[in-house]
Amino acid sequence: MTDARRNLPAVNTLLEREAVQALARRVPREVVADAARAVVESVRRGAHAPPPSPAAWDTAIATAVDRALAPTLRRVVNATGVVLHTNLGRAPLSRAALAAITEVAGGYAALEYDIEAGARGSRHVHCAALLCELTGAEAAMVVNNCASALVLALNTLADQRDVVISRGELVEIGGSFRVPAIMAKGGARLVEVGTTNRTHLDDYRRAHTPATGAFLSVHRSNFAIDGFVASVAPRELAGLARELGVPCIHDFGSGLLLDLADAGLTGEPTARELVASGADVVVMSGDKLLGGPQAGIVLGRTAAIAAMRDNPLARAVRVDKLTLAALAATLAAYRDPSRARQEVPVLRVLTATADSVREQAAALVAACEARGVRCEMVPSEATVGGGAFPTARIPSSAVRLPGNAVQVEAALRTGDVPVIGRITGGAVFLDVRTIAADELVTVAEAVARAVRSAGASATPGTAS
Ligand SMILES: *Cc1c(COP(=O)(O)O)cnc(C)c1O
Repeated sequence: MTDARRNLPAVNTLLEREAVQALARRVPREVVADAARAVVESVRRGAHAPPPSPAAWDTAIATAVDRALAPTLRRVVNATGVVLHTNLGRAPLSRAALAAITEVAGGYAALEYDIEAGARGSRHVHCAALLCELTGAEAAMVVNNCASALVLALNTLADQRDVVISRGELVEIGGSFRVPAIMAKGGARLVEVGTTNRTHLDDYRRAHTPATGAFLSVHRSNFAIDGFVASVAPRELAGLARELGVPCIHDFGSGLLLDLADAGLTGEPTARELVASGADVVVMSGDKLLGGPQAGIVLGRTAAIAAMRDNPLARAVRVDKLTLAALAATLAAYRDPSRARQEVPVLRVLTATADSVREQAAALVAACEARGVRCEMVPSEATVGGGAFPTARIPSSAVRLPGNAVQVEAALRTGDVPVIGRITGGAVFLDVRTIAADELVTVAEAVARAVRSAGASATPGTAS
């Protein structure tokens, strides 16, 4: 431990300094005191070098206060190349969705009010007709997210009853979403059939008893299995369910509405295909491939959806006006598929040509160079993420940054607009496919600052 660390100023002494007092007149005293304590503590731990002068202590405390008052939910630049990054908020919204939110957010809205009739209406009307039109479903409703849609479906159709599912589909989607746990919360008794790698239609038939409440199939959205495998197609399962008079629920997750095979993305079913399979209920997310706000979308037969709307649990998982506004506007773009590909950011990012991404990477390299940082453009592979097309690798381009990777990555991440990249083989890479065109200048400026500050903190004397 250095002498400077041994002789740290007392927090009270720091709080008496004129600059710190001035700070405490602008923001709550407690915040300033906590910030001063945090600065002293981080120097004591060796996380930061001791500020070299009293004025530098003032600055460190002011910075800590700013950080404490800054919102934690901040905009970031996604330079990971993972298009649907759950930790980074999944789908960016379209301009139309943003405009729709602005339109209804600041004032009152006809959320549950029928303007024609001048009477009470239902919040379920706002997206239902569009969803039916786009997917061929008889009926639709929107809830908070796909997990709650599944709980609601199970609880409505199979409370205290057996729900039959393949062992190969008892999956974990991420975070706390595990199919067996969700089923238990929905009130369903889990009946596993088949094996991890192979399940046949006869397995479901044999498991059927008078206590069967539903057949459930869950899309393998974040992994693939191959080799000696067999599974039952949604159409076959729904057909058997129909024959036995049992409801069939399909949790499909991704929310894909358009076939993206021409962009090299194959193997995911579309919502329309799953509805056409004859399932009673299909549930999916609003903020994955659909490219809208967080929402759980339920498609299916009129009777099943009506029963779900009437379930008291529906009230606990209902969506707000902002979500409905954004979702309706996002869905409207899908009436013209080519418009959807241009206007819905997730689709635009997924279907951008490798050439256009390369051009954008070259523009980023040039913008960094104009700010004194030499970077290198390299080929890269983006992924869909967020539980869809788990094995797809999308040709992309990345920019490799100079400097100490750990320091540059940290400086980028903690900058004014955090830029989230990845470290591979000792260098920081920014994948350009997930960076929006209007973010390039912001990123170049962040890169210049990060590379400079990493260089500076690497010089002897200033490192802690
Ligand atoms: C993503 C996913 C979910 C969870 O969706 P949320 O909208 O995040 O609740 C459920 N099931 C499947 C198959 C998924 O891919």
